[in-house]
Amino acid sequence: MKWLNDAIKDYDNLSDNDKAHVDATLDSLSDPVDNDTCVCGVKDCPDAYAHTTSGF
Ligand SMILES: [Zn+2]
Repeated sequence: MKWLNDAIKDYDNLSDNDKAHVDATLDSLSDPVDNDTCVCGVKDCPDAYAHTTSGF
């Protein structure tokens, strides 16, 4: 993710559009939900497939 590091270094010079993109990427990186955690927040949720595909 070199582009991200460069973008952060140069953040003040980015366009608003690029800043939004960087912000969104940082948000997703800091998201504590990992692959073992269902979208409903339960780790190893037995209904993970249904929750993931149909929403929670
Ligand atoms: Zn679930």
